[in-house]
Amino acid sequence: MKLTFWGVRGSIPAPGPETVRYGGNTLCMELRTASGDLLIIDAGTGLAQLGNRLLGTAFGKGRGEAAIVLSHAHMDHIQGFPFFAPIYIPGNRFTIYGREKAPGRLEAIFEGQMNPHFSPVHSLKNLGASFDFESLSERAEVEACGLKLRCVTLPHGSTTALGFRIEEEGRSLCVATDVGYPEPGIPRKVIDFFHGADVLVHDCTYTPEDQAERSDRGFSSIEQAATVARRAEVGRLVMIHYDQDYSDEQVDTLRERCRGFLDGVGGAGIELIAAMEGMTIDV
Ligand SMILES: [Zn+2]
Repeated sequence: MKLTFWGVRGSIPAPGPETVRYGGNTLCMELRTASGDLLIIDAGTGLAQLGNRLLGTAFGKGRGEAAIVLSHAHMDHIQGFPFFAPIYIPGNRFTIYGREKAPGRLEAIFEGQMNPHFSPVHSLKNLGASFDFESLSERAEVEACGLKLRCVTLPHGSTTALGFRIEEEGRSLCVATDVGYPEPGIPRKVIDFFHGADVLVHDCTYTPEDQAERSDRGFSSIEQAATVARRAEVGRLVMIHYDQDYSDEQVDTLRERCRGFLDGVGGAGIELIAAMEGMTIDV
């Protein structure tokens, strides 16, 4: 699997001269399978640039097919969708996976975003592509794009978000973009779910100091991410979902401090990567 980052910011886009290196778009990742199939993780504003890139492929001719998996429907994870050019081209097909269990609920969220209050498109029915909406359950493994996909429900402030475990040919990728661990701390089931993953992409929104002041927002500190990575014995930890107010220099410092926390908890053997827009890693 190859994982490319199109948006790595949390909460709201953060464009500007202080964020050019890591990028200012909100969450979006492109996962390519060994056979080249496409699974998109979250539909934040980074999805717009991914869409423009896809126009040069089968998606530009209305012959594209992809899965989109959604951690949750907060705005920083869906706002790129109306600006994702391939949805306007008839013939393209998308399967959208989310946590919403009630029939029609996930589709209604996307429909709501197209409402004339928010968008000139008015309705999903005015798009050219076709869509299937599927709800994910913790109990069921799903096959998407030939990949094995499982999910776990993560605490995220006053709500929850999904974490994912995606496997192909013995390799494993875990993703937890938005998670805050209230007392008594990191649940055992979360550690078990991530255990042994080759790559863990984990919420690294805050320094420990900022996280302590804003714990009700439901995001992790770099110290918590390092602890999860160590306890789950993952191969690589990828930092993501940086606070929108952190400059590139502050994210550099975040990475240096996260390295220190990893080493401090016995995770010196865990490789650390700070995700930035345009970066591709092999899983
Ligand atoms: Zn978020």
